[in-house]
Amino acid sequence: MTDIIQLLPDHVANQIAAGEVVQRPASVVKELLENAIDAGATNIQLLIKDAGKTLIQVADNGKGMSITDARLSFERHATSKIKLAEDLFQLQTKGFRGEALASIAAIAQVDLKTKPQEEEVGTHIQIKGSEVESQEACVTPIGTVIHVKNLFYNIPARRNFLKSTAVETRHIIDEFQRVALAHSSIAFSMHHNGNEMFQLPISNLRQRIVNIFGSKTNEKLVPVEEETELVNITGFVGKPEFAKRSRGEQFFFVNNRYIKSPYLNHAVTAAFEGLLKDKSYPSYFLFLEVDPKSIDINIHPTKTEIKFDDEHALYAILRSSIKHSLGQFSVAPVLDFNRDANLDTPYDLETKSARTPQVEVDRDFNPFQEIKSKATSGSGFQPKRQTVPQENWEALYHGLDSKDENDFSKVEFESDAITGQLFETSKVSASSTTFQLQKKYIISPFKNGMILIDQHRAHCRILYEDLLKSITVKAAVSQQLLFPLSLQLNVQEIEMLHHLREALEQTGFIFSKMKDGEVEITGIPTLITESEVSILLDQLLSDFENEIPDSGFLQTDLLAKSLAKSMAIKAGTQLDTVEQIAIVNGLFACKEPQLTPTNKKIFITLQAEDIEKKFM
Ligand code: ADP
Ligand code: MG
Repeated sequence: MTDIIQLLPDHVANQIAAGEVVQRPASVVKELLENAIDAGATNIQLLIKDAGKTLIQVADNGKGMSITDARLSFERHATSKIKLAEDLFQLQTKGFRGEALASIAAIAQVDLKTKPQEEEVGTHIQIKGSEVESQEACVTPIGTVIHVKNLFYNIPARRNFLKSTAVETRHIIDEFQRVALAHSSIAFSMHHNGNEMFQLPISNLRQRIVNIFGSKTNEKLVPVEEETELVNITGFVGKPEFAKRSRGEQFFFVNNRYIKSPYLNHAVTAAFEGLLKDKSYPSYFLFLEVDPKSIDINIHPTKTEIKFDDEHALYAILRSSIKHSLGQFSVAPVLDFNRDANLDTPYDLETKSARTPQVEVDRDFNPFQEIKSKATSGSGFQPKRQTVPQENWEALYHGLDSKDENDFSKVEFESDAITGQLFETSKVSASSTTFQLQKKYIISPFKNGMILIDQHRAHCRILYEDLLKSITVKAAVSQQLLFPLSLQLNVQEIEMLHHLREALEQTGFIFSKMKDGEVEITGIPTLITESEVSILLDQLLSDFENEIPDSGFLQTDLLAKSLAKSMAIKAGTQLDTVEQIAIVNGLFACKEPQLTPTNKKIFITLQAEDIEKKFM
C-alpha cells in the first residue's frame, strides 16, 4: 500500500486553526484588543464597518514591534508571551497561544503598521490568506495599527454563516465592554460606521461602569469587597430592585480576564435569593483575584471558561460577601428612621388648644445602656445578644451616597426619644415603643408607619451572626456543667459529631467523650440551657444528615444556621418589653437584618400612607 499521510500546508493548517479562534468578527475584536493591552497601551481605539464584516481596525499606543517581530507575529505559535510550558501557570497576559494573528491573517486581508519607541521608522506589512503581499518601512506613530478587512473572504461558507449586522454588532459590543470593564485604567473608544459608540476615558471602575451603561447606573451599584486567602473579590452588584429581565449586565473577571461561570453565577443568584422578583436577573461586575496557579484557563480555546482548584469555597465566599454587601446597603431604603413630629402627635394639639402633657425628658439618657444591664440581669428570659451595640447602627448606612434621597445623617431610632423614667421603673408602661402581637410578632413604630417583626426569625438572625462570629474568631464562652451530660447516639451520629466537633467547641461546647455510642458533655454555650442540649444536637444532626460540606466555611455556615434555628425563641413565647427591645435592637445591629439565614423575610413594614388608605 502506498503512503497516504502528508503534512498539511501552512495556510491550510492556519485556516483550520482559524476556525477555532475566529468564530465571528467579535472574536477578532477580542484578540486585537487583548494584544493591544498586552502591549501596554493606555489608549485603544476600535473602529468597525458593517459589524466588522468589512473592516475591523484597532489602533493602540503600546510598545509596538520591531521589523522582525512584526513579520514573526503572523507565524503560528509565534508569541512573545510564554517560553516554557510552566509559564502557562503564571500568565500575566491575555494572549499566550501565539495563534491569533496567524489565524486572522489566514482568513482575511490584514494590514499592520507598527513602530516601537526606539525605532526611527515603522514597519508596514500586508498579508492576505497567510501570504505576505508586501513589507516596507513606513511613517507611523509609536504603537500598532492593525486593519482586518473582509473577514472570511476566502471561506464563503463561513462568511455566509455570519448573522445579521445587528447580531454581529451586539457580539462586538459585548467583547468591547468586557475588555473595557476589565481595564478602566486604559482609555477606549469604539466607532461603528463612523458613529461614536463609546468614548471611555481613563477612570476608576465605578466611573467605567457608568460610562458604559449610562449615568443612571451609578445609584444602582452596591460595592462588594472581600479579602480572603483564597480569593480577593472587588466590584459591584446592582441593587435588587433594579434587577433586569435579561442577563445583560453580568460580568465575572478572574485575574482581570472575563469568564463565564454558571457555577459562580449561581452563587451570586443565591446571594440575591428572596430579594428578586420572579425571572429577573441582578447585574454584577465582579472581579476575582486568585493565585494564577490555582486556575486553569486553557481548557477552552476562546478562553472564557476556567477551572478553579477550590470551586466550592469560592462559591461560599462569593455568596456570603455579596449577601453581606446587600445586607448593608439595601435595608436603608426600606426603612425611614427619620422622625416626623406630626406623627408623634396625631392630633394637632396646638390648634385644638389642648393641654400639652408635661413630660420631662432626660436628653442625656441612653436607653441602650439600660437595656444592656437589664438584658444581663437574668430575668428568666435572657436576651441572647448580650450587648446592644448602638454604634453598629452606622454600619447600616455606611457607604451610602450622600446624594441619596434619604438624609441619613438625621437618623434617629424611635426608642431614642423615650424618657428616662420608662426604663428606670422596670415596669414598662403601655406607652413603650414596642409591643407583642399574638406572642409571635414584635411591633415597633417608625416615622413612616410601623414595622412588624417575626420574633423567632429575628432572633435566628441575631444568633446566627453571633455564632458565626464566635466560631470564626474562636471567642465563645462556655458554661461548665456541674455534672457531665451523657447522650446516647448511633455510630453515624457520632461520626458526624466528630466532623463538627471543632466548630461546636468554638461555640462553647466541651466534649469529654465521643465514642462507643456515647457523647459526654461537660460544657455548653452560655446561650442555651442544659435541658435544651439534647434537642439542639438532635436538630443539628438531622440538618447535617444529608451531607457534611467539605469546605470549612460551608460547614460553619450550616452549623450556625442549625444552632440558631433551634436556639431562637419560638413563636408563642411571651416577651416583656425589655426583651422585645433587645430583639429589635439586636436585629438592626445585624449585618443583614432583612432575611433569616435561610432567606426568609424577618420583618415587614406598614407605611403610614397604607394605613391612612384603610381609613378612607
Ligand atoms: P499571543 O497574543 O498569543 O502571543 P498573537 O498572535 O495574538 O499571539 O500575537 C503574536 C505576537 O505578536 C504577540 O506575542 C506580540 O508579541 C505581538 N503583538 C501582537 N499584537 C501586538 C500589538 N498590538 N502590539 C505589540 N505587539 C503585538
Ligand atoms: Mg494575542
